[in-house]
Amino acid sequence: MPEAMVAARASDATNSATTQTVDVAVVGAGFAGLYILHRLRKAGFSAVVLEEGGDVGGTWYWNRYPGARCDIQTIDYSYTFDPELEKAWTWSEKYATQPEILRYLGFVADRYDLRRDIRFGTKVKQATWDEAGERWQLATDKGASVSCRHYIMATGCLSSPKPPEIDGVKDFKGEVYFTGRWPHEEVNLKGKRIAVIGTGSSGIQSIPIIAEQAAQLTVFQRTPNFALPAHNGTAPADRKTMLESDRAAYREQARWSLAGVPYPQQMDVSWQLSDAERRERFEKAWAAGDLVHILTQLWADQAVDVDGNKLVSELVREKIRGVVKDPDIAEALSPHDHPFGAKRPCLDTNYYATYNRPNVTLVNLRQEPIKAITASGITTDKRSFDVDVIVFATGFDAMTGAIMAVHPITGRAGKSLSSVWAQGPQTYLGLTVAGFPNLFMITGPGSPSVLSNMAVSIEQHADWVVDRLVALREAGFTTMEATETAQTGWARHMADCATLTLHRLANTWYTGANVPGKARGVMPYTGGVGPYRSICNEVVSGGMLGFRLKGPNGAEQCNDGEVVRLQPDVRLVLGMLAQMNLPPIETMGAQGARDFLDEFNKARPAGRPVGEVGEGMLQGADGPLPYKLYRPATPGPHPIVVYFHGGGWVLGDQQSDDPFCRDMCRRTGMIIVSVGYRHAPEHRFPAAAEDGYAATRWIAEHAAEFGGKPGPVLVAGWSAGGNIAAVTCQLARDRGGPPIAGQLLVCPVTDCSFDRPSYTENAAGYFLTRGLMFWFWDLYCSPADRTDPRVSPLRGKLEGLPPAYIVTCEFDPLRDEGIAYGDALAKAGVPVEQLRAHGQFHSSFTMVDVIITGVSGRAKMAEALRGFAGLPKQESERRAPPEINVAAK
Ligand SMILES: Cc1cc2nc3c(=O)[nH]c(=O)nc-3n(C[C@H](O)[C@H](O)[C@H](O)COP(=O)(O)OP(=O)(O)OC[C@H]3O[C@@H](n4cnc5c(N)ncnc54)[C@H](O)[C@@H]3O)c2cc1C
Repeated sequence: MPEAMVAARASDATNSATTQTVDVAVVGAGFAGLYILHRLRKAGFSAVVLEEGGDVGGTWYWNRYPGARCDIQTIDYSYTFDPELEKAWTWSEKYATQPEILRYLGFVADRYDLRRDIRFGTKVKQATWDEAGERWQLATDKGASVSCRHYIMATGCLSSPKPPEIDGVKDFKGEVYFTGRWPHEEVNLKGKRIAVIGTGSSGIQSIPIIAEQAAQLTVFQRTPNFALPAHNGTAPADRKTMLESDRAAYREQARWSLAGVPYPQQMDVSWQLSDAERRERFEKAWAAGDLVHILTQLWADQAVDVDGNKLVSELVREKIRGVVKDPDIAEALSPHDHPFGAKRPCLDTNYYATYNRPNVTLVNLRQEPIKAITASGITTDKRSFDVDVIVFATGFDAMTGAIMAVHPITGRAGKSLSSVWAQGPQTYLGLTVAGFPNLFMITGPGSPSVLSNMAVSIEQHADWVVDRLVALREAGFTTMEATETAQTGWARHMADCATLTLHRLANTWYTGANVPGKARGVMPYTGGVGPYRSICNEVVSGGMLGFRLKGPNGAEQCNDGEVVRLQPDVRLVLGMLAQMNLPPIETMGAQGARDFLDEFNKARPAGRPVGEVGEGMLQGADGPLPYKLYRPATPGPHPIVVYFHGGGWVLGDQQSDDPFCRDMCRRTGMIIVSVGYRHAPEHRFPAAAEDGYAATRWIAEHAAEFGGKPGPVLVAGWSAGGNIAAVTCQLARDRGGPPIAGQLLVCPVTDCSFDRPSYTENAAGYFLTRGLMFWFWDLYCSPADRTDPRVSPLRGKLEGLPPAYIVTCEFDPLRDEGIAYGDALAKAGVPVEQLRAHGQFHSSFTMVDVIITGVSGRAKMAEALRGFAGLPKQESERRAPPEINVAAK
């Protein structure tokens, strides 16, 4: 029976003559709504699109202000679903103007005959889930209400203009315009005194053009933005050639890229480049006039690390100073309150140069806030400006504004979306909300949306939703709803992703900070377009993971769970390792495995500079051992940390954890001495343990020669190195010293029992496998020796040990024995702090500058070491990133 007939029987409400009954109702006829309608029709669904505006276009229908253009190159900012459409349309410019993009969307609507199913001039006011009929009922401001099985909000991320926050607008006697609702008829600004309030993207695009027409232009700026020249013209030859030489491959690359535009992952980090090299890259990016290029291609740490970012920010500020003649105005236009890219930078044409014009005045609202708008103009707390026209370029209630403007949206059991989202948007995948069956949001909060080329993100969402509706129909289900578990997991994954980038450090419309009273949190998904796409695909291949599907006669399917539990960068790294299809390390033989590790380490980012790096020999248990020393740049003497590398007592050496040692040296301000202890199988148990102890003793005795502070040393180690550090503390206690002030044990081996759950749960797939651990144990230690506390410190006496900081990772076979050691130490009266890192794997913390989410953990480790050494807490930016306020329950 056709859907519409079922619905008509199921619900009385739908029998009303004023109700239009369809399978799917779509709200919004912009980029998203148009494509969805096309796909729905092809899939055989009856559909209607409801659009407040008078025609198609969405963003490009409303934003007609002077200078309105896209800021992603138009060859990328286009539909890609139909190669014939691509052939049929040629863009005239690198960044098309609003009229051209609107023409394009009109052309698309005509080509696929879309307008006949769009009700223009119709605003959706309310939406209610009819539980009995399993349908959404939409109330509109005009014409028939709508009853639909599925309700798709393609209402736009930037379609709800923010009302002015200033009193007196209605008293103003002159003309008032909003960039986001610019009139369709021509606006004559020639020779007028004009005020523009706001210097976001719309302000920055319109100000140079308005300045050319105005007698006097006064720009009221609250927050300066970074802007770079668009260098508009024809599409750049290199990008065009790339596209045209293999269009399908180019589009596919875009779909799997980070931002929806095909650019490679930049690998060079800023500190590996000289000043001249960095400047050369920057100048090239500046000349390219391409947002995605300058945001992703300078150096790998530009978007994830405060120091790497400062370098870019300063180069842009230098450009501003180079253009704007008045140094005070240049300074006022220079952003200092947010990292470059944490707020969307703008593309401009002559923006900064406009402030050199005699008819342009900049008013810095940070120094003189607006007091009121009066009949004749604008008054700040210092002066008054008489104007004929006020242009509000004050932006949008982004991402949630248009969704929440449909009010109420009432889901299951009478729950309203505004109450569910009171503390910030809660979604699963940015597409659905638990408790709101059959409701879909296109580019909703929690998806890459505004952090991407939205043409790519819109197509991905539209395809995903329509494909799901088809699958639902084929399987005989009528409803689809996210589970609470999946939604909570997504909030956590969003929070994890937010630690990766610097967006969390800026007050922006990405975080809701531009709207008074709006809940704060990073709203778009910061993990990237390609990773996001793979997650959405995984939900499907995992049997609609995190969704409850229901159908007639009690049919139900629910594969509940969280789609991503790993940290986002761990997921990427493990994915890359899986693709390499490496043979198991334990099959390589000891020397083969060592060679492999050497090669593997060559590909990692070099550690960051420290004051001094030295090498030397020290006395081990049975002869000299090499060491590597890392000294901070600050004047000594410094406390000394004796460090033991990881590698299962078989692999690695004093420099194999080089980036980690450098990082610890920089963060702690201490000397790190990494010891090259002897390895199995050449030197089996207890060689490594005895070397660890002997080396610690020797270093403590020679502390002054290292420039070390007199007094106790500290010990630290990762994995088998953590084992050696723990054992060293026990031996030092029992053998009369040296005094040890504290122990940092990162994912340590502490016991020879392999029965704990983490050994089974994480037996494979997380690089350190159960099989590899067995191999390490076999090479190092015979079964008869394994209960000796010198290899299983958990079985030793624990009283009287130095304070400990123990780090364990969720996806690590060694997790539970690390936790057990921490718990046992605490029970024995040893001061212990544990960091149980969620979503991390065994190597997370030593993969410096690769696993970015490991930064906060290392910052905590460093603070712990400093605490053990009696040093004060650090206030520097190298400490843990601030807690992230991502909307989560
Ligand atoms: C000036 C400007 C420039 C931009 N440039 C770029 C760019 O270069 N690259 C890029 O990727 N993105 C850009 N964007 C973002 C842009 O919004 C998206 O690229 C894209 O156009 C969004 O399409 P959409 O269909 O999702 O939403 P929209 O185009 O916003 O369309 C949503 C439609 O829904 C309608 N609607 C909303 N609520 C209701 C309701 N209750 N009832 C009825 N109708 C309703 C609105 O009237 C609107 O027409 C820009 C945005 C702006 C404002």
